[in-house]
Amino acid sequence: MKYKTITLKRGKEESLKRFHPWVFSGAIAAADESIEEGDLVTVYAHDGTLFGNGHSQIGSIAVRMLAFDDTAIDEAFYANRLADAWRMRQALGLQREDNNAYRLVHGEGDFLPGLVVDIYGPTAVMQAHSPGMHFARDIIAQALTGLPGIRNVYYKSETTLPYKAHLDPVNDYIIGGMETDEALENGLRFHVDWLKGQKTGFFVDQRENRRLLEHYSRGRRVLNMFCYTGGFSVYALRGGAESVHSVDSSAKAVRLTDDNVALNFPPEDGRHRSFAEDAFKFLDRMESDAYDLVILDPPAFAKHKSALHNALVGYRRLNAKALEKMPSGSILFTFSCSQAVNKEQFRLAVFSAAAQTRRKVRILHQLTQPADHPISIYHPEGEYLKGLVLYVE
Ligand code: SAH
Repeated sequence: MKYKTITLKRGKEESLKRFHPWVFSGAIAAADESIEEGDLVTVYAHDGTLFGNGHSQIGSIAVRMLAFDDTAIDEAFYANRLADAWRMRQALGLQREDNNAYRLVHGEGDFLPGLVVDIYGPTAVMQAHSPGMHFARDIIAQALTGLPGIRNVYYKSETTLPYKAHLDPVNDYIIGGMETDEALENGLRFHVDWLKGQKTGFFVDQRENRRLLEHYSRGRRVLNMFCYTGGFSVYALRGGAESVHSVDSSAKAVRLTDDNVALNFPPEDGRHRSFAEDAFKFLDRMESDAYDLVILDPPAFAKHKSALHNALVGYRRLNAKALEKMPSGSILFTFSCSQAVNKEQFRLAVFSAAAQTRRKVRILHQLTQPADHPISIYHPEGEYLKGLVLYVE
């Protein structure tokens, strides 16, 4: 199948030869004039060698490659890629009686750049990050409901598509409707608000890290900072924490956390309290030695490379504020989900916080995203979640 064509400059084909899925605008020598944003295009080297097909886009990433040969990008293509993604999740054992929340499609990590799909029981929540995926949404939704157990597809791209593309996406069900808003993660119950919540309504990427937190929480006084839907809080309670305090600047997030605690523990439990407050203010007024297990899982401080320096300062300040008040023998789970901050840079920011507060700090675990957020070996940029578990003396 041939689409509108793009030809690369001489010498600009190296990354495509290594199957990197992005073509930058600076690498293009010639392009069909009729190409519009989101169109399917065929990419050629300067000598006419075909590289493959992808979605065109206006911006520094000009093409996101979908196939490194002349495979047609049609219904069968999406059905095959989704079947591959599904088979991989089956291998991971994520669809179980006690677990039905996981990521089915993680963009480049599933060789579907620009597409994210999270599964919550019978509902798939789908996000397009590229105009090409927006235009393909109906056939993708059809292919999703061809997978076992998926009956509803909610499309949620109002905030993920480039607004300059003027696509005016509408968040709505493409297939089916509201069946249940409850999902299971490792036997714990969660309300997932894909209609109004952040991202697809829940952060499935912390599943394994929450389980590790559960392991450390017995008898500890836990502070879950940036709690959002209270994932870490609920695991800490199940793990036998003495008390759990959840903090988020959003009153809505705090309500979601309270609801999820109530969904899993009886009202007389009484170990949980929540606070709608800014993290930095909370840490400033917090007494020393109040918590012996602290989670810091802030939103991305750097969404782009330009914000890198400020982000690193932010991570250092945040971690220093927590570290200086933690008692000897306490544990800190600290994360960064900024794609622009790499593992080494994040570790250096936390190192600076440790040195600044003169605490004796050891690394117990180095955490990352779970296997349902796979990293294509050809696209190392797909590694975005970084975490450290620290023992503080
Ligand atoms: N740990 C969560 C995800 C955190 S998302 C989980 O496991 O699901 C980041 C959260 O930080 C959001 O809910 C956002 O409302 C909150 N937030 C952003 N800025 C904040 C601030 N300055 N103080 C406290 N919370 C903040």
